[in-house]
Amino acid sequence: MAPAAADHDALAARLDADFAALDAPGRLRALRAGVEGRIVFTTSFGLEDQAIAHMIAEAGLDIALVTLDTGRMFPETYEVWRETERRLGVRIAAYCPDGAALEALVERQGIDGFYESVPNRHACCDVRKVAPLARALSGASAWATGLRASQSLHRTGMGFASFDAGRSLIKANPLLDWSREDVAAYCARHGAPVNALHARGFPSIGCAPCTRAVQPGEDERAGRWWWETSDQANDKECGLHVGADGRLVRAVKAEGLADR
Ligand code: SF4
Repeated sequence: MAPAAADHDALAARLDADFAALDAPGRLRALRAGVEGRIVFTTSFGLEDQAIAHMIAEAGLDIALVTLDTGRMFPETYEVWRETERRLGVRIAAYCPDGAALEALVERQGIDGFYESVPNRHACCDVRKVAPLARALSGASAWATGLRASQSLHRTGMGFASFDAGRSLIKANPLLDWSREDVAAYCARHGAPVNALHARGFPSIGCAPCTRAVQPGEDERAGRWWWETSDQANDKECGLHVGADGRLVRAVKAEGLADR
C-alpha cells in the first residue's frame, strides 16, 4: 500500500537521513523495512544495476526486479540479462512497448527516426521506455534505481531518497554516493555478471543505435545520443528520471554528496 499522503515527505526524509549512515546493502534493507507494499528495482543491466541486483538477491529482499525491454538493446545486454537470472537465481520481469503505439511510431517517423530530430528521439523514448516504466511502477510504493551522483551534472542534485509526487512513490538511490570504481570493485569482488560492452569503452549502455563507446576523458554519458548537442539532448537523459514537477532532475542538492 502506498504511504498516506501526509507521510510521503516525512518517510522520504527519514530514509534519506538513514541512508547516509548505511552501506548500500543496508540502504536496500532499510528501504524494504521502511516502506510497505511493492518495491520495484529497474535495471538496464549496467554496472550499477548489476551491483544492486546482486545485493537484492544476496539478501533475499522482496523487491521486484524489472527491466524495460525497448526492443533495441545490444545482444550483449540480453546475454547479461540471461546470465544474471542464471547466476543470481532471479527472474527479471520485462516491460515492453505497447504494440499499437510502437507501430504508430514507426509508421510516423520510420524505424530510426530518432536520428532526425530531438522531438523524434523523445517520442521514441516515450514509447519504448517512459510508458513501459509507468506500467512497471504502477501501484508501487517505492522505486529503487542505480543512479549515481557523479554520472552527470544533472544527477548531482539527487538525494538518497525522495518522494516522487508525479509517480506517488518513494524513489531511492542506494548507490548515490558511489564512484564508478566502487561499483566495479563490488561487482568484481562478488562475481556479479557484467555487460561485456563495459570492457569495450561503454560506461553507460542504452539502446544499441543510440549508444557509442566513449573516448578517455569523456563524460560517462557522452556516448548516449551522441549526435545531439547537450542542450538539444536535455543533457543525455531519456525522461525516466524526472522531478515532481515533471522536469528532469536538476542540481539542487549537491551539498553533502561525495563522489560515489
Ligand atoms: S534510446 Fe534510442 S532507440 Fe532507445 S528508446 Fe530512446 S530513442 Fe528509441
